[in-house]
Amino acid sequence: MSPKKVELIIGPCAVESYEQMEKIGKILSFYQIRYLRAGAYKPRTSPKSFQGMGKEGIEIIHEVAQKYNLLSVSEIMDVRDIDFMKDKIDILQVGSRNMYNYTLLKELGKVDNTILLKRGLSATFEEFIEASEYINVNGNNNIWLCERGIRTMEGATRNTLDLSCVALLKQVISYSVVVDLSHSLGRKDIILPMACAAIAAGADELMVEVHPTPEKALSDSQQQLSITEFCQLYEKLEEEKYL
Ligand code: PEP
Ligand code: MN
Repeated sequence: MSPKKVELIIGPCAVESYEQMEKIGKILSFYQIRYLRAGAYKPRTSPKSFQGMGKEGIEIIHEVAQKYNLLSVSEIMDVRDIDFMKDKIDILQVGSRNMYNYTLLKELGKVDNTILLKRGLSATFEEFIEASEYINVNGNNNIWLCERGIRTMEGATRNTLDLSCVALLKQVISYSVVVDLSHSLGRKDIILPMACAAIAAGADELMVEVHPTPEKALSDSQQQLSITEFCQLYEKLEEEKYL
């Protein structure tokens, strides 16, 4: 049996500048990876932490995606941003903290963009599926469901990557299933084995945060791969014939 192929969704936690995004765009284009991700609206635990570049950031993601012919992925947090973002961003991400924001989900049911819905921090499998129905029943069937780890007592990883959720999703829905390795693990040393495990469980896309200078990143500095580290990951996944 030949291994299942996956697609990669790659980019920094947050857009910080045009130059930063341009470096990521270039590497994606080199490897023929289609999906460029970055957050411009950042749902940070502390209001004092960097909140993202907002509209200006969305413009940068849009520009770089256009330049390299990539599809863009970025988080939407507020219904008031839908009109602006729907024409600039191809795939609108609903973050973990907003999985229960049914007002937002209903409104996203009315757009044509693909919606990447992340599992809530402590959401059950059923709650996750039902949240996706808020988008679907309002008319948008272009949905990707993303497992990004759940809260458990375990502290060795940022969250606990629930791969049984991935296998179960593949049994009950026909949507694409994404595994966000960066936010699940919160560390980069076990991305490769967990990527292989996610593929075995049925993931269709893998999301990984990559930053040109992770040590200087304004958010999630410890979990982002450098471009060199990303190239090594890419080449190992390619060797395994997953890409
Ligand atoms: C993100 O993808 O940038 C993010 C904040 O992730 P999550 O919503 O899964 O915490
Ligand atoms: Mn992040």
